[in-house]
Amino acid sequence: MSSEILIYWFRQDLRLADNPALFEAAKSPNVLPIYILNDYEAKNLGASSRWWLHHSLDNLNRRLNGKILILKGNPKEILIKLMQDFNVKQVLWNRCYEPHILNYDKEIVSSGIPTKIFNGSLLWEPWDNLKSDGTPYKVFTPFYKIGCLQSKVIPREPLSEPSHISLFEYTNETSVDNLELLPNIRWDKKIEKHWNIGEESAQKRLQEFLDKSLMDYKIGRDFPSMKSVSRLSPYLHFGEISPNQVWYSAIYNRDKTENNLGHFLSELGWREFSYSLLYHFPKLQTENLQPKFDAFPWDNNDDLFDKWKKGQTGYPMVDAGMRELWETGYMHNRVRMIVGSFLVKNLLIHWHHGERWFWDCLVDADMANNSAGWQWIAGCGADAAPYFRIFNPTTQGQKFDPEGTYIRKYIPEISHLSDKEIFTPWISTNKGIYPDPIVSIEESRDKALKAFTSIKVDQ
Ligand SMILES: Cc1cc2nc3c(=O)[nH]c(=O)nc-3n(C[C@H](O)[C@H](O)[C@H](O)COP(=O)(O)OP(=O)(O)OC[C@H]3O[C@@H](n4cnc5c(N)ncnc54)[C@H](O)[C@@H]3O)c2cc1C
Repeated sequence: MSSEILIYWFRQDLRLADNPALFEAAKSPNVLPIYILNDYEAKNLGASSRWWLHHSLDNLNRRLNGKILILKGNPKEILIKLMQDFNVKQVLWNRCYEPHILNYDKEIVSSGIPTKIFNGSLLWEPWDNLKSDGTPYKVFTPFYKIGCLQSKVIPREPLSEPSHISLFEYTNETSVDNLELLPNIRWDKKIEKHWNIGEESAQKRLQEFLDKSLMDYKIGRDFPSMKSVSRLSPYLHFGEISPNQVWYSAIYNRDKTENNLGHFLSELGWREFSYSLLYHFPKLQTENLQPKFDAFPWDNNDDLFDKWKKGQTGYPMVDAGMRELWETGYMHNRVRMIVGSFLVKNLLIHWHHGERWFWDCLVDADMANNSAGWQWIAGCGADAAPYFRIFNPTTQGQKFDPEGTYIRKYIPEISHLSDKEIFTPWISTNKGIYPDPIVSIEESRDKALKAFTSIKVDQ
């Protein structure tokens, strides 16, 4: 019988440090690291996620001397085949919370394959953080303040990178290229200059944020032209960095930035909240958390949706956001709220359309955060924005981009307008240089309020 091996299965934890399952696996004298692009993801991953995943895996594989066995298909069938081909003692992985992955995991566990599963991507497990009556929280503040901060469960302190991993010696004939994740038309050239992918870059990004931006976070995080946010979201999604590393590095970095620190940690809390919602409400991506929204009279219009996607709505703050997304694969949180509100409340287009577009374009596309974000914006989610809160993109721009710096960056054709005119190019003396607004804010707002009243949403 050939020597016994332990399989370590990389999933959304593409890192070596603070990786509980890998740390445990590394105690074995023979570790075979694998990655499986499952059938669901092969079909459903967004274009920007595929691009990021390719480079992230490629980077990790190089760090492990090209020894990651790269596979594609149904995970249970693949693992059964590996059990037949090798003398496998156990398969180890870190848990994911997306319903399709949990289903795959269930199938594997019930097939009798020996497994050991760890938590590598949340500070608190969703089942550890419930209300006193045993039901899940639907409101963020008690979830975070009582469920997380007052919990008896203290987030795990980060683990170091295993000092040595005895990799199973074999000739690897698979490669990341076989997954065919990169696009045929190389649109990715435009976003690649904005990102350095991989665990080492994630750590650098974190350090830079802690050194230069955390001290301005509480106020600065609302201003898209300021470098006050961490931009760690894609690294967190793919697990190139763990929330535990971010949480503890921020805490240990504590000095005069108490307010900013608390606020930053609470944003990690929002991530925990989204994952808890996804775990307890696995249809979060497709079904309104508040069923009364099923009767909402959406007014989907392909032409208006197309103009929104292309950043051609006539409202500079919305258009700048949509162009940032297209050019970089990222959009600042304040602007996600502005463009989202505009889509669902001013255009009355179903939040599913926005969710899908973000899913395809964002490098941080994340089922939990994206679905919860869109449900929040649409008013149909847990602890959602009240329906009458309809962002005015012009006043939002004047407040959060007062000098038009962000708008000028993404809409160069109006960059010469004055600080006053740049938010309303349709009434500037240069009228005609920019598309007219596709809807009137006042009229569309009234229409939205009537639509919300028709489904009797409580104020
Ligand atoms: C409509 C909409 C869609 C969204 N889609 C996604 C998505 O697909 N993926 C995603 O990671 N985030 C999503 N968000 C949440 C948020 O916009 C991003 O997490 C944030 O902008 C990422 O930038 P950052 O890393 O600089 O955040 P920072 O402000 O530096 O925050 C640090 C981390 O906290 C977490 N976080 C921050 N804000 C939120 C939030 N509101 N909800 C949940 N987690 C949060 C993220 O993991 C983030 O990386 C969405 C928000 C909205 C309104």
